[in-house]
Amino acid sequence: MTKRHAEIAGAGIAGLTLAAALAQRGWSIRVHERSSNLRTFGAGIYIWSNGLRVLKAVGAYEEAIVGAHEGPEFYTRDHLNETMEEIPVGNKPGGAKLVTIVRETLLTALVNAARRAGVEIVTNSEAIGATPEGELLLADGSRVKADLVVGADGINSKVRDSLDLLMYRKPLGYGAVRMMINRADSDVIAEDLPRYLEYFSGSRRILYTPASEKDLYIALCASVEDKAAYQTPIDAALWKESFPHLGALIDRFGDAGRWDAFEVLKLKAWSKGRVAILGDGAHAMPPYLGQGGGCALMNALGLAVALDEHSDIPTALAAWEARERPMTEHTQDTAERLGDMNYWPDTVRSDVLKITAQCAQIGAERMKTARHVPTGT
Ligand SMILES: Cc1cc2nc3c(=O)[nH]c(=O)nc-3n(C[C@H](O)[C@H](O)[C@H](O)COP(=O)(O)OP(=O)(O)OC[C@H]3O[C@@H](n4cnc5c(N)ncnc54)[C@H](O)[C@@H]3O)c2cc1C
Repeated sequence: MTKRHAEIAGAGIAGLTLAAALAQRGWSIRVHERSSNLRTFGAGIYIWSNGLRVLKAVGAYEEAIVGAHEGPEFYTRDHLNETMEEIPVGNKPGGAKLVTIVRETLLTALVNAARRAGVEIVTNSEAIGATPEGELLLADGSRVKADLVVGADGINSKVRDSLDLLMYRKPLGYGAVRMMINRADSDVIAEDLPRYLEYFSGSRRILYTPASEKDLYIALCASVEDKAAYQTPIDAALWKESFPHLGALIDRFGDAGRWDAFEVLKLKAWSKGRVAILGDGAHAMPPYLGQGGGCALMNALGLAVALDEHSDIPTALAAWEARERPMTEHTQDTAERLGDMNYWPDTVRSDVLKITAQCAQIGAERMKTARHVPTGT
């Protein structure tokens, strides 16, 4: 029997995971990456148990977690530096394993897993669209035919837009500057050093994330109206006004940082004919649950499994969406709701979170994706 063939646009978390999973199932795969290299923006990423299971299933786990950090606790703190809630990690009741990884390390592990399985990755190759019949259209004017075409080309997916699949795309008026600096013992008190900490003050947040023995991933979150807060180099005095207890840390912020505005988007359908849309292009979400990449990982493996179960491609794509979309939408909707508290008065947010932290049902909703056992794992 001839091998089934897929052309995938985008060598991010979604495209590489799918490429590895399909090649491991006997497909021939070519991935087209618009950039000239396979490097990614240097920040950290939270990968919960659900995503870690997928990394294991595609053979990328061992390499991805080399040097990664596993924080013993995860706390949110209010404007007075008091703990509002604990998000359960590891073996804590209701919890899930959580690892933080330097993005570059994660991406390299996925590239290597894909290449070991025989995937061809072409850089400087930009997709501009696709046809439902199974053609990927490239910026150099060529068209490549496949049994399956996948748009894993990120939030601004050209493959998706060429097929008129977008239902809605909503800017959330909020975003983050991400940066990576070295860890230092003076940043927070000694017992906090290995923890994950999210600090709130007014409409600003600071997320403190050790991502390896030496790397500290910082996210400074602010409203898009709060322009002074996300100018780079960061205005240390302005951030210290909001977080006076983090002065030592803020003084060490580097000059470099990348701003991304948060958006949520949903599609009319995750596929058309022989074309599937995967990852942020199908279901971008704000990062409050740390699950955008987690959902990309789950849906990539889920797609490979569905294609194993159904030989007819459109049937497989419909079955995949029916099985995976409810969990993804639960994740998107929960993440979007978590952004509501960005604009609450400090004392209200603090009082409410201290109460909701005691509610098992709210905790379970929040942890549902992290505790989910993905298809194929
Ligand atoms: C501030 C912030 C923090 C986050 N934190 C987390 C977290 O802690 N945990 C988590 O799980 N998720 C997190 N996310 C979400 C996560 O980064 C994304 O969900 C994930 O990167 C999506 O992967 P992807 O492969 O779909 O898209 P991308 O990572 O965007 O990859 C798309 C790839 O396609 C390429 N490409 C684009 N257009 C084309 C084209 N036309 N042709 C060919 N190639 C193309 C791009 O160069 C890129 O390599 C965060 C997001 C933000 C903004």
